[in-house]
Amino acid sequence: MRATRAIIHLENLQYNIGLIRERLPKGTKLCVPVKADAYGHGALRVAVAAIRSGAHFLAVASVQEGIDLREAGIVAPILSLSLPIPEEIPLIIEHELTPLVVDGEFIHQLGEVAKLMGKKVPVHLKIDTGMSRIGCAPGQAAFLAKQIAQEKHLVLEGTATHLAAADSTAPQDIAFTRGQLAQFDRALEEIRNEGIDPGIAHAANSGAVCQYPEAAYGMVRPGILIYGYPPSEDLKDCIPVKPVMELETRVVAIKKIEAGTAVSYNRTWTAPEDTYIATLPVGYADGLLRRLSPGMSVRIGDKRFPVVGRICMDQCMVDIGPDPWVQRWDVATIFGPEPCGESARDLAGLADTIPYEITCGINRRVPRVYL
Ligand code: PLP
Repeated sequence: MRATRAIIHLENLQYNIGLIRERLPKGTKLCVPVKADAYGHGALRVAVAAIRSGAHFLAVASVQEGIDLREAGIVAPILSLSLPIPEEIPLIIEHELTPLVVDGEFIHQLGEVAKLMGKKVPVHLKIDTGMSRIGCAPGQAAFLAKQIAQEKHLVLEGTATHLAAADSTAPQDIAFTRGQLAQFDRALEEIRNEGIDPGIAHAANSGAVCQYPEAAYGMVRPGILIYGYPPSEDLKDCIPVKPVMELETRVVAIKKIEAGTAVSYNRTWTAPEDTYIATLPVGYADGLLRRLSPGMSVRIGDKRFPVVGRICMDQCMVDIGPDPWVQRWDVATIFGPEPCGESARDLAGLADTIPYEITCGINRRVPRVYL
């Protein structure tokens, strides 16, 4: 029990998945990224809701995230999007996770351990077409696909790439993304020319789902859209998704201060007139970025009030004005879906970041409540 809590609107998550699926060519599979605790929303509950809404795959960022889902009873295919270290290979196989592979040495190691464990392991070959993060060179893809085909204990279940600028509408980024897709197409063709099936091809993150229908291939991997935010301001109107996370707290104290009284650390804000200050038990240790003040406001009832002075580790203060209309224990909404006031997008704009960082940053000290 805590005044500060994150309400997760699973009905909005399922609505967003429905909107995305409507736009996809028939038969396109959906992979739902539940990495980083489902962008802060809670991986297990999101995974279950996503599967019920028709997700075919889940995607995690680490082997441990995949194990946690398996141990909680998730049986759907789980793609691990980051590269593991060799010590994690037996865990990947034991927990039936699907790793990305990017080089011959790892393919060989994985094949050997799979043989020892008597298992056949599905893998997805990751090609780097311009992200310069992980993946083989496009020209190497057919060679590695052949190596996978020769490993009796591996199956090439998919071939993937990741787009670096699909969320931008700038002409140079559109040209760059088209170039990435062309390289991916060529690599897929070269794999097929070796008589090998590249399996499920996938490339599209949220930006590509919005802007590049041709990049749907066999599966898409939109993350932030599912959590209710456009991937960038460029694409803010592309799909009318609804935010899934609502962060709320309660007023725990109200005090009257006189004009000229400073509030919080370093006395960065001083009351211009006699006013009332409400204290909220939420701070940067919960993930409410310190740099959001000055600038952010919270909603209490149907009004918005500014956060004043520095956001502290565990608390922050709101100027509720000279007429103390707000009551102690009232709910204060920090961000969320309409009509909550600000959204994680507004906060991201204020803090010069992206909504991803706002929702991922709401940490485990904040209980999640699922609706
Ligand atoms: N695919 C990969 C490989 C990713 O790393 C990510 C997120 O970082 C996604 C898909 C989903 O991206 P987005 O949330 O922008 O849709």
